[in-house]
Amino acid sequence: MRLAPGAVIGIIGGGQLGRMSAMAAARLGYLTHIFSPEVFGPAAQVAAYNTVADYTDQAALRRFAEAVDVVTFEFENIPAESLTLLASLRPVRPGPGVLAVSQDRLLEKQFLNDAGIATAPWVAVHDEAALVAAVAGLGLPAVLKTTRLGYDGKGQAMLRAPGDLAGAFAGLAPKPLVLEGFVDFAAEISVMVARGVDGAIVAFDAVENKHKQHILDLTYAPAPLPLDLLEEAGAIARTVAERLDLVGLLGVEMFVTSTGGLLVNEIAPRPHNSGHWTIDACGCSQFEMHIRAVAGLPLPPAVRHSDAVMKNLVGPEDMALWPEIMAAPGLIAHHYGKTEARPGRKMGHFTRLFPKGGLPGAFGIEDAIRLG
Ligand code: AMP
Repeated sequence: MRLAPGAVIGIIGGGQLGRMSAMAAARLGYLTHIFSPEVFGPAAQVAAYNTVADYTDQAALRRFAEAVDVVTFEFENIPAESLTLLASLRPVRPGPGVLAVSQDRLLEKQFLNDAGIATAPWVAVHDEAALVAAVAGLGLPAVLKTTRLGYDGKGQAMLRAPGDLAGAFAGLAPKPLVLEGFVDFAAEISVMVARGVDGAIVAFDAVENKHKQHILDLTYAPAPLPLDLLEEAGAIARTVAERLDLVGLLGVEMFVTSTGGLLVNEIAPRPHNSGHWTIDACGCSQFEMHIRAVAGLPLPPAVRHSDAVMKNLVGPEDMALWPEIMAAPGLIAHHYGKTEARPGRKMGHFTRLFPKGGLPGAFGIEDAIRLG
C-alpha cells in the first residue's frame, strides 16, 4: 500500500521527533494525527489532528486508529498491549515485534548476538546473588542497567568496586537488570537506517556522537574515522534492519573500541537525535525517510550533500543563547516549541554545514560552532 497525498499518518508520541516527522510528512502532502498525553506539545503544534490521552487509554487508541491510515511512533515506551491493539486495526510501522525487541535490553542483546552482531559482554541479573556472580565473570568496572525504560543515561549505574554492588542493585528499577562489561571506547557512533515496505534498505553515513552529562551534545557527520570502519557500521545497521524485518526508520548506536572493533550498544526504531543533521545536510532527511517508509513510498538514496556538525540546545543555559543563535550567520536553527526550558530538557538544536570533506577536526569544532 502506497499512501496518496491527503492520507493521515498517526504518530504515537508528541515530542520533537514527532514534530520533525510531522513537518516532513506535511511537505509530502500528508496530514498527521498526534497521540500524546501532552496538551499542545512540540508535535501537536504542527499537526492537523491531535488526541490527548494516556498511552493505555484503549477507547482513545481505537478512535485514533480509526481516524488514521497508518500508525507509527516517535516514542519507545508505549505499552506493548497498546501497540498490539493498534496493529489489529491499522498497519503499524515499525511493527510491535520490532518495538518489543528495542524496549527490552535483554531481548535486544540476544537478538543482536543471534544475528552475529557483537555487543559488550552481558549477563541478565534477576537478583543480588546473580549480580555477584555476573561481576565475578565480567570483572570491574562494569555497567548495571535496567532492561526497560532507560534513556539518556538514566536507569544505569557504574560499578567500580565490590562495595558498589548492593546499592546499585537496590537503586535500579524495574528488575530484571543487565550487567554489561565496561567498554573502553575510542568513540561513540551511530547509523540511521531505513527499510521500505518493499524491503529496500538505505543507510545514512555513520556519525560520531559526543555526550555531555549523558545527553547528546554534538554530532559530527560523517564520523571522522576510517572509511572501512564506517562502512562496517553501515553494514551492521543494514543487517539489523533486515533481521528485524523493519518497515520504517531505526537508529543503531555503536561503540568503536580502542582496538578498532564495533560493538552495538542500543537500537531505536524511530528517528534519532543523532540523525537531526540529515535535515540540513541531505536531500532526504531521516524524518522524510521515516515518513516515506511508513507511507509505503520508495526510499531515495541517503546521500549527504554537505558535512555537518549538529549541536543540541539543552536546558535554560543553552536557550539563553537563542537570540545570539538567531543572529549568527551560518547556523541553521531548529526550535522544538517547548515553553519551559528545564535543566536537561532538549529544547532545540542547530546545524552548521561544511563542504564535503571540510569538517573541522575536534579542535576546530569549537570555533565552528562559536556564536557571533
Ligand atoms: P545507554 O543508556 O545504553 O545508551 O548508555 C548511555 C551512555 O553510557 C552511552 O552513550 C555510553 O557513553 C555509556 N555506556 C553505556 N554502556 C556502556 C558500557 N558498557 N561501557 C562503557 N560505557 C557505557
